[in-house]
Amino acid sequence: MIQLEALSEADEVRNYVDGEWRRPSGTDERDVVDPATGDRLATVPFSSPADVDRVVEKGDEAFADWSTRPVEERIQPLFELKGLLEDHQEELAEILVRDHGKTLAEARGELRRGIENVEVACGIPSMMQGGTLLNAAPGIDESAVRKPLGVFAAITPFNFPGMIPLWFLPYAVATGNSFVLKPSEQDPLVPQRLFELIDEAGFPDGVVQLVNGGPETVNTLLAHDDVAGVSFVGSTPVAKHVYETAAAHGKRVQAQGGAKNHVVVTETADLEFAAEKTVGSSFACAGERCLANDVVLVERSVYDEFTDLVVEEARAQTVGYGLEEETDIGALVTPDHEQRVREYVDSGIEEGAELLLDGSEVSPDGYEDGNFLGPTVFGDVTPEMQIAREEIFGPVVALAAVDGVGDAIERVNDSEYGNAASLFTGRGADARTFRHRAEVGNLAVNAGTAAPMPFFHFGGRKASFFGDLHAQGEDMIHFYTDETVYIERWPDA
Ligand code: NAD
Repeated sequence: MIQLEALSEADEVRNYVDGEWRRPSGTDERDVVDPATGDRLATVPFSSPADVDRVVEKGDEAFADWSTRPVEERIQPLFELKGLLEDHQEELAEILVRDHGKTLAEARGELRRGIENVEVACGIPSMMQGGTLLNAAPGIDESAVRKPLGVFAAITPFNFPGMIPLWFLPYAVATGNSFVLKPSEQDPLVPQRLFELIDEAGFPDGVVQLVNGGPETVNTLLAHDDVAGVSFVGSTPVAKHVYETAAAHGKRVQAQGGAKNHVVVTETADLEFAAEKTVGSSFACAGERCLANDVVLVERSVYDEFTDLVVEEARAQTVGYGLEEETDIGALVTPDHEQRVREYVDSGIEEGAELLLDGSEVSPDGYEDGNFLGPTVFGDVTPEMQIAREEIFGPVVALAAVDGVGDAIERVNDSEYGNAASLFTGRGADARTFRHRAEVGNLAVNAGTAAPMPFFHFGGRKASFFGDLHAQGEDMIHFYTDETVYIERWPDA
């Protein structure tokens, strides 16, 4: 059993409302299970619409005072939170491994990126400044100032339960809003521990709140009159639903969806380096990443050589329990999800792709009840195959030969999704073509994963993103504030 102060005696996850821990009062609930062992860790009771109403009401009350506090005062709890997250990073990482199934190294990396977002948001006094223009017109000075808007909600997915809430929370509150998190019901324990630390960090009651639940909780937030805006990260169908529903209720909304990311490898690339990075990015977090390398498009002249390198590198990955240091690939989040990934593997075989490495029989000793699948590599994958088009979200990578960068970019741009793409090359001209023509939100050259640092925004295109302002960095300031322009004239001046 996992030990968290905020859990009830029955190991139930709690909401954090107006500075107090409360049991969600809805009728549904769900067990929280360690994906590697099958052990029950806790239960998450779902919130009722009345719970959501109360959270929003308390957030609205807190906003009235918080939004008028000096900005220096508003960032002090964030400095506290940064210190608490550093002090408790190892403990959080362990909870993350047990709740999600990823490895300890991946958990540490995830938390580091979360902490970096808190650090960036501590710079709000500079980032939030508007602009002033003297003599904008005869005798007139004009300035634009940014004002917070009210209660913001963020609805987050299961795959980065420690980091993704921190793409939003620090910026929302530092700009003067109040904030409600609805984390994934699949792995709510890191958010639970995060809110124990938030409780210590010194935010006034109601400024930062936690509400647990599922779709009903989300839909109540989306339709609530007193929610000013919604951030969403999750699968594309739900992202679209959130975008449309929140907008129909007059809210600001940014909704990040699923992905199908491509890697292009040219004959001038350092093939060993590219294979190492590709395998790392394909199988990290057991492929449960919106930045996973899903499809690798290799210039025909080096296809066989590169394929061999990928298979060799993939075969060397150790599948196991995330808390064991030698593990490279941890467990998939639930048995249902494992089953879904296995069905994709079957479809690849049925549609005629070449199974170069079969992970289906991999089962780490001592973890027979875990949701494991070994690294799986397909070759000769054609564009119409399901495994080439749809998001699998598992340790499965698809390789195909292409005739140069132009051909590869067409395949990248034919995808329904537009989250990320990477190019491995030794030619500047290829890199430039790729940079100009590939239609994705995050592009990398000679790097496996295009994951921007938190002072840059993060978001995709096409079916990977609905909205305009993305997560992280400067975009967050614009999302969480409205600009008022002051026009000032003093006729006697
Ligand atoms: P999901 O869409 O199932 O769930 C995300 C959130 O939406 C959860 O909090 C869940 O409770 C809620 N939800 C689920 N169904 C709902 C419904 N019908 N109505 C209202 N709310 C609902 O996603 P997931 O399985 O938790 O996460 C994996 C997905 O997230 C993948 O598609 C992945 O690509 C995507 N993702 C995208 C990014 C990005 O930045 N683009 C980052 C991480 C994950």
